[in-house]
Amino acid sequence: MSNILNVKWTIIPTNAPQPWMTCSGCGGPRPFKCSDKPRLNANGRRLDAWLIYKCTGCDKTWNRTLFERRNVRDIDPATLEALQSNDPNWIRGHAFDIGALGRFAKRIDACADCLIDKSEACDIEGWNILQIDLSAPFTTSLRLDRMLANELGLSRSRLQALHEAKALRIEACRKQALRRPAQNGSRITLDLPDEADRRSIGERATGSSTTE
Ligand SMILES: [Zn+2]
Repeated sequence: MSNILNVKWTIIPTNAPQPWMTCSGCGGPRPFKCSDKPRLNANGRRLDAWLIYKCTGCDKTWNRTLFERRNVRDIDPATLEALQSNDPNWIRGHAFDIGALGRFAKRIDACADCLIDKSEACDIEGWNILQIDLSAPFTTSLRLDRMLANELGLSRSRLQALHEAKALRIEACRKQALRRPAQNGSRITLDLPDEADRRSIGERATGSSTTE
């Protein structure tokens, strides 16, 4: 019988990344917040599409180009439909595309506030190894140790001590992984053979705990 409690966590940032742009209103670089509103502009048969951002200091807008002067025949009908209907999923895909934002801004702040969606694991009696598979579909700046501390109810110093004792292991990550943002596809393994609070850690890890 397995003694591994395996859970899957999906990390969902609550806000889209904010590019730093020079704001003519503020007279310097400021982070700009996505308004989640696209704009479509027609010039005869040619269309422009933008996603509108607002300066967090003064609300001045910046229009992020999605495409320019594109012939209406060359635009995928699903894209056109999404733009015309303000499809929130389509907008979200672009707003969270930090790679595409890199064309416009050198500095981009990724969101550190995240919701952690936890898969329901079956209750395994007598587990003593917790295995967490992380999925991070969007870039965040949430540090791994901060997330584990919050979600499992453990202090960061205790996590550090477990890591040093090799009772906490992180696969598919670079050095200093605890201090870096959580990475998509990494697996965290915690050996908890003698921990008195194993049960409450397990409840938090599976999202079945009622305490916050
Ligand atoms: Zn401004």
